[in-house]
Amino acid sequence: MLSYLHGYHAGNFADLHKHAALWLILTHLRKKKKPFCVIDTHAGSGWYDLGSDQAAKTGEWHGGIGAAQTGKNAPEILQDYMDHVSRFDPIAHGREYGVRDTDEYAGPFYPGSPFIVREMLRDEDELVLMELHPRENETLYHRVKRDPRIHLHKRDGYEGLVAMMPPAIRRGLVLMDPSYDVKQDYQRAANSLQNAWDKWPTGTFMLWYPILEDGFDADLRKSIGAIKSQGGVLCAELAADHGGAKGRMRGAGLLVINPPWQFDQDIDVIGSWLAKTCKLPGPGHHTTSWLVPAE
Ligand code: SAM
Repeated sequence: MLSYLHGYHAGNFADLHKHAALWLILTHLRKKKKPFCVIDTHAGSGWYDLGSDQAAKTGEWHGGIGAAQTGKNAPEILQDYMDHVSRFDPIAHGREYGVRDTDEYAGPFYPGSPFIVREMLRDEDELVLMELHPRENETLYHRVKRDPRIHLHKRDGYEGLVAMMPPAIRRGLVLMDPSYDVKQDYQRAANSLQNAWDKWPTGTFMLWYPILEDGFDADLRKSIGAIKSQGGVLCAELAADHGGAKGRMRGAGLLVINPPWQFDQDIDVIGSWLAKTCKLPGPGHHTTSWLVPAE
């Protein structure tokens, strides 16, 4: 059952938090010459037209990237990522970025995780994408097929991840960003990450999750917090202090196994700024805590 389409939510406050964290980890991976790989288990369609009917229907991006781009005193460590988003223009790249003559675009555009990683890849680095939704997969295929560093699979991200472990390039990151449109996603994400980490204990793994009123996020923190990795497990949450409307997201969290050095401080600086700059369902804040301390 694949009913979720990221185009309705692209660029909202939760996307921004996740993508800023992704950028921090990629920046760290680029510090060494040795190649790195990124495995994105739930890739989406690659990039989003914020002028589309989908984006207009929710208008969520106005309270996310829209607010951040006009916000004051953005932290310096966020600047590179913000510049990438401001510069991002698939139309200028035409067919290379999968722009089709048959489609109409309005802009502005927002890069999803595949095109955030793509920007940071060097010649020897690799990006593996999984996307199960037939139409999202097809769109993504046209957008990445010309880049030999990127490999797209139409397969289940939870199973695919474990089957690919350990990757041939042993430095890198797994991003798991499920849509949580079915309740089983929570358990499947936790099991998949546990099994993948068993086979690749030195990899960095980042799981995104929504904070709703149902409390499933607490189960997730418990499961991932049971992964006793030497590099630790960090939890970073950006959330409104009180619940939003029933069934609506109050906030979003990231669970990061083996985060890079100082990631905890950097994401807290960024998240605290996002908490006061973006439109959350109510006044909110950012918290970071180590579920498993780094040794
Ligand atoms: N990671 C993307 C980004 O940051 O731009 C957004 C991904 S969106 C939140 C989740 C995606 O996962 C959707 O496009 C959905 O079709 C896809 N999906 C859902 N279940 C999946 C599964 N079991 N395996 C792979 N992809 C799946």
